[in-house]
Amino acid sequence: MNKFIFVTGGVVSSLGKGLSSAAIGHLLESRGLKISFLKLDPYINVDPGTMNPFQHGEVYVTDDGAETDLDLGHYERFTSLTLSQQNNCTTGRIYDTVIKKERRGDYLGGTVQVVPHITDEIKQTILNVAHGTDVVIVEIGGTVGDIESLPFLEAIRQMPFDVGRENVLYIHVTLVPYIETAGELKTKPTQHSVNKLREIGIQPHILLCRTDRFLAPSMKDKIALFCNVDKDAVITAKDVESIYEVPIVFRKEGLDELIVRSLRLEAGPPSLRAWDAMVQKLKRPTHEVTISMVGKYMGSKESYKSLSEALVHGGLPNDTGVNIQWIESEDVERNGPDQYLSETDGILIPGGFGLRGIEGKVETIRYGREKGIPFLGLCLGMQCAVIEYARSILGLDRANSSEFEPHNPYPVIDLLPEQRTVEEKGGSMRLGAYPCHLVEGTLAHRIYGSTEISERHRHRYEFNNDFREKLTARGLIISGTSPDGRLVEIIELKHHPWFLGTQFHPEYHSRPHQPHPVFAAFIEAALKRKFGR
Ligand code: GLN
Repeated sequence: MNKFIFVTGGVVSSLGKGLSSAAIGHLLESRGLKISFLKLDPYINVDPGTMNPFQHGEVYVTDDGAETDLDLGHYERFTSLTLSQQNNCTTGRIYDTVIKKERRGDYLGGTVQVVPHITDEIKQTILNVAHGTDVVIVEIGGTVGDIESLPFLEAIRQMPFDVGRENVLYIHVTLVPYIETAGELKTKPTQHSVNKLREIGIQPHILLCRTDRFLAPSMKDKIALFCNVDKDAVITAKDVESIYEVPIVFRKEGLDELIVRSLRLEAGPPSLRAWDAMVQKLKRPTHEVTISMVGKYMGSKESYKSLSEALVHGGLPNDTGVNIQWIESEDVERNGPDQYLSETDGILIPGGFGLRGIEGKVETIRYGREKGIPFLGLCLGMQCAVIEYARSILGLDRANSSEFEPHNPYPVIDLLPEQRTVEEKGGSMRLGAYPCHLVEGTLAHRIYGSTEISERHRHRYEFNNDFREKLTARGLIISGTSPDGRLVEIIELKHHPWFLGTQFHPEYHSRPHQPHPVFAAFIEAALKRKFGR
């Protein structure tokens, strides 16, 4: 029988429900259980692909090309799973499915309603993920009390009737704030939030109390009494130095044991030794490097979640901590690159969309190329590197991507002919994992140690083959292509110590226990530069 853990959040958003779910998944997987995840998002967009990163943070891309919530990135980084479209669902997708069914006549004669039609569709979505697993961890986006998440909460309230009471566990993530002027922790917001849940018929079994200090036993007793939960089910979820400590902290609080007992799971003993060693290494590195990240969503670090994590992972095999310097590309346009980049150990240009900040990125790349600073350009970052090279080395001053200047005479980055007629915006990009062939003897080949790789994509535009010969004749190396050789996936430079641009996003494949080779090599190059200086 499948078991279901439902994770809800209360009091405020950003309490780390996603990380908590990921950490629970880690603990259960480490005890030999087969797990899966589902993130239910209460917005009307069919997926987050059309949303601005300022609104929603990073769009995480899966191997099968789904544009998903960034929590799926946490789930993958904390476990061994490879997730897919079925692990993320939104209100928009649920309604889209139900409305299509209605138009097809599936409910002929009936009035289609939130209960039961929408809630049934939600429950079906949950059951679809359960196939072949011991436990599914279902995280409900938003905060209890929001109008938007009500259908999801109603659906999970009904679940015990469908799958058996003993197979369902409700975990509520809540806040226990320390009030400076009173000099104490306050439980009232937690009480209110649990009351809100109980009003709609859900009595949580376990409370994960986010706090900046340990909860004294008396405090736990009080929360247990007022919230109607067992005393040992009040868990301190204290702030941690590194997100990867969360499973360790939960384990110390006895959370996995509690879950295993409550759901009567047949689980092995936990094995956290390797993970623990990784966390220790991460917290106390011998060296440190500064990586300058020049982008356009710098006000919202959630927009680059996988990337900043991948950099941290890349530090691990080098015993190096990575200090990220976040630079707004438009600041480089205004003030020039020197004052930001003269002391840096490495430059990274991440992915992005739209014209704003492009010239600052191109200028940054020119600076890094001329000064021999290790450079990594990802997706848009790679495209900007091609633009920069065409302008500076081929003398094509106006070289550009047709994304930014549609009728440019030198579209070194362009749409493929078959893409020109596509009008639909959502999901119309090259999305998901594609194979890539690496050229032997190149930097990319040395990094991967293989000629066949697979990486995840999310972009519309491509390297324009009309400029291939001219660029390669002047020192640009094409080190990775699609297996048919048609699409350029990786570029390098002949006369530079470490310069790599990838059309794909390696950051989506990086995990702390398996740092991605591109990031490991980039940090190694940055460390070399630092020592060399
Ligand atoms: N805007 C570029 C494109 O669509 C790059 C996308 C990205 O960096 N993810 O091709």
